[in-house]
Amino acid sequence: MADVAIKEKQVKLQVATLRAEESGAGIARIPRSAMAELGLTEGDVVQISAKRDTAARVVAPYPEDEGLEVIRLDGLQRANAGAGAGDMVALSRAEMRPATRVTFAPAQENLRLQGSAMALKRSFFGRPLVAGDTVATAGQQRLPAGDMPPQLRQMLNAPAYALAEVRLIVVSANPKGIVYIDENTEVELLAEYQEPQDARRTDVTYDDLGGLGDTINQLREMVELPLRYPELFQRLGVDPPRGVLLHGPPGTGKTRLARAVANESDAQFFLINGPEIMGSAYGESEKRLREIFEQATKSAPSILFIDEIDSIAPKRGQVTGEAEKRIVAQLLTLMDGLEPRTNLVVIAATNRPDAIDEALRRPGRFDREIVIGVPDEKGRREILGIHTRGMPLGDDVDLDELARTTFGFVGADMAALTREAAIEAVRRIMPKIDLEEGTIPPEVLEGVRVTRDDFLGALKR
Ligand code: ADP
Repeated sequence: MADVAIKEKQVKLQVATLRAEESGAGIARIPRSAMAELGLTEGDVVQISAKRDTAARVVAPYPEDEGLEVIRLDGLQRANAGAGAGDMVALSRAEMRPATRVTFAPAQENLRLQGSAMALKRSFFGRPLVAGDTVATAGQQRLPAGDMPPQLRQMLNAPAYALAEVRLIVVSANPKGIVYIDENTEVELLAEYQEPQDARRTDVTYDDLGGLGDTINQLREMVELPLRYPELFQRLGVDPPRGVLLHGPPGTGKTRLARAVANESDAQFFLINGPEIMGSAYGESEKRLREIFEQATKSAPSILFIDEIDSIAPKRGQVTGEAEKRIVAQLLTLMDGLEPRTNLVVIAATNRPDAIDEALRRPGRFDREIVIGVPDEKGRREILGIHTRGMPLGDDVDLDELARTTFGFVGADMAALTREAAIEAVRRIMPKIDLEEGTIPPEVLEGVRVTRDDFLGALKR
C-alpha cells in the first residue's frame, strides 16, 4: 500500500529531560507555539523523529520553559527516538489507529512475566505505541496537577500492573505506524526478553538516578559528548578523557550511573569486576583484562567500567603479591596503549581513592575524578520517587516524610526499603493467595496497596 506523500508540517525542537516523576507516562512537553503550529491541543499525539520514529501525547510546557524551543522527553522516549538530550528532533502531527494486535515482551533479561494480558491492556489503554518502542507500566503515577485537563491526567495515570514498574518492548503492532490499544485489541505478552532491533538499550537511563543531577551533568560533558561527537573533539584538537574515576561509598549508584551514560550515549557497556578478575589463575587475570579492552575497542563507542578498581590496582609499594603488581602494570599498559582516536572511555569506581596506585591517576589515565556522596534529603526523595514508580501506594504514604527520616541511607538502602515495603504488602494479602497455584491472581495483585505501615515495618527490619 503506497502512502500518499503529503508534506506534513514539521517543527524542530531540542531535546531536554522530563522530570523524573513524570517519566514513563508517555507524555512530551512542548512549547505552546509548536502546538499551535502543528494544530495540536493537549492530549493529541505527535510523531517524534530522530534516528527512529516514536510517538507521545503532547502536554503544555513547564512554566519555566515558556518561550523555549525545547521538547521534554523521558529516558525511554529519548531512546525510542534515538536522540539524546541536546539533540534536535522533528515533530509532526500524527494519526493513531486502533491496534488489532499488540505483542509485548519484557525489556530486561532475567525478568520473566506471567502477566495477564488484561492488566497490560489496561496499563497501556489509549497510549500511543510504535513497534520497537520500550515502554513502562506507569502504574499509579501521581502526575502533578499542573494545568493538565483532569481527563488527560486520569488517562495517563493508568492502573498498576504489578508492584513495581515493568519495562516492556513493543515487539510488534498491527497495523503499522502509531497505534493505540482499545477494547478490541488482542494483546499478547511473550514470556522472555527480546533484544530490541534498532533501539538502544533502555535498562537504565538518567531518569533512574536520583539525587545525582550535577554528577550527571559532569559526566555528560566528560563522557557522553566525546562519545557521541568524536569528530567535534578532534576538530577542536581536544583530547577527550580516557579514564574517569568515580569515588564514593558502596550503593550510591556508581555502577548504575556508568550504565546510564553508556545507554544514553548509545555506547556498548563492558564491566570488569575487580575482585572477580583477581581470583583467576596465574596470568589469567591479565589475559582477561586484555581481552575485555580489545573487545571494548572493537565495539566502540564503548564504556568500560571497572568496579572496585582498588582491588586490582592497589598501591604497588604496599602489595607483596606478584599477581597484583603484574595486573597494575597490565592495566597501565592497556590505558596507555589506547589509540587517541579510539572512542572508548574507561570509568573506574572505588570507595577508597587513596588506596589505588598513584600511577593510574597520571594524565592520560584516570585523570578526572568525580565524587559521589551519600544523598541528602532532596536526593533521597528523588530516589524514593524512582523506586516507587509504578508502585500502587496507599493514600497515607508520605514520601517526603520517608525521605526526612532515612538519614544516612544510600540509594541501595532506599531501593531495599521500597522492595521490603512491597513484600510487607504482599505478606498482608498472603492468606488470599493460593500458594498451590504459585501465582498471584491479577485481581488480588491489583487490589494491593503499599501503605505507610508497610514502609514503617520495612524500616524496622
Ligand atoms: P555502587 O556501584 O555505587 O555500589 P550501584 O549502582 O550498584 O551502586 O547501586 C545499587 C542499587 O542501588 C541500584 O541498582 C539501584 O537500585 C540503587 N541505587 C543506588 N544509587 C541510586 C541512585 N542515586 N538513584 C536510584 N537508585 C540508586
